[in-house]
Amino acid sequence: MLNAQCSLSIYHLPDNLLLSIVSTPIGNLGDITLRAIETLKNCDAVVCEDTRVTGNLLKLLEIPKKELISFHGYTDPSKVDFLIRRLEAGEHLALVSDAGTPCISDPGYVLVSRVSSLAPHVPINVIPGASAFLAALSGSGLPINEFVYIGFPPMKKGRQTLFRSFPEEERTIVLYESVHRIEKTLCEIAEALAGQPERRVVIARELTKMHEEFVRTTVAGLPDTAKTLTKKGEFVVVIGAV
Ligand code: SAM
Repeated sequence: MLNAQCSLSIYHLPDNLLLSIVSTPIGNLGDITLRAIETLKNCDAVVCEDTRVTGNLLKLLEIPKKELISFHGYTDPSKVDFLIRRLEAGEHLALVSDAGTPCISDPGYVLVSRVSSLAPHVPINVIPGASAFLAALSGSGLPINEFVYIGFPPMKKGRQTLFRSFPEEERTIVLYESVHRIEKTLCEIAEALAGQPERRVVIARELTKMHEEFVRTTVAGLPDTAKTLTKKGEFVVVIGAV
């Protein structure tokens, strides 16, 4: 028992016939949880996006060599059937992504969706942890009682339709963007929200890492911010509620 007063305790699910969804850090190794380490140690194999990234994480955590099964956005659907067969044979598989919480804007969703519909007797065990959009929201200082998570804005089809819907969206909006498109995306958001110049915007960069920063601006200031922002690392954009 960890702390009876807070009704917190550590308990263990049986260690077979199990799909564990394991969150990993988004930049700071210290954010790995005790349960994540224990699960990665005890599972039969780790299903991951990039075996080099996960191999490196396991090395840093001093977890002895483990079977790594690659599973990414372009994985052949027959791989899902193969993984389901292994689960049904009694194995414990741990699903991780390159960083953060699996299935949040990454391909783990396909596996969890198929296991829950095709093999509902396989328990799904979730081990929560870091996620970039939650860290960005909590540090943004913007109203977050309600928010809309967009993930990555589409690159082509649907992109302008999405941005044109922002003025009508009164809740806080949170989205992911890569270093290659951050300037373009911020400029397009500024254009779409030109009628709400005072609306607040926070750009969270390199969360939990050495160069973490929160750049706080408004829609009116966004074109300048887009130019001067350090174009390095990873970004989350938060647009405040109206
Ligand atoms: N599954 C991850 C999660 O739980 O946040 C998200 C994976 S998604 C493929 C990667 C995107 O998340 C990046 O392009 C960036 O927008 C955001 N991201 C991930 N780590 C971040 C960090 N340390 N700081 C800021 N944004 C980050």
